[in-house]
Amino acid sequence: MPVTPDDARLMDVQQGGRCFYCDGPIGAGATFDHLIPRAYGGIDDPANVVLAHRRCNQRKGDRLPDRGELDRFFALRRSSRLGVWGPLRTVRDAEEGDEWIAAARAISQEK
Ligand SMILES: [Zn+2]
Repeated sequence: MPVTPDDARLMDVQQGGRCFYCDGPIGAGATFDHLIPRAYGGIDDPANVVLAHRRCNQRKGDRLPDRGELDRFFALRRSSRLGVWGPLRTVRDAEEGDEWIAAARAISQEK
């Protein structure tokens, strides 16, 4: 389900009003960044979305989140109703270098 205004407000509170990537104050210019990019099957749902500056979102582009980003995301979402999309756990637990194939498998199992 797409991110609702309520979800976005909660995300903003949980991120302390800061960009997920650079930790700078984000204000009104926040964009939704999909941790697993939509181009690779990432869902448009709060469980796969963080708030980021437009420039940070663009800089991230079409890569998968790295280990540090995933750890940060899981910490933010601990006991949050916004949740964590299953394939993100699979990517975190994948062997180094196997993240893409693990992500593709996990995403296909979600459908
Ligand atoms: Zn930023």
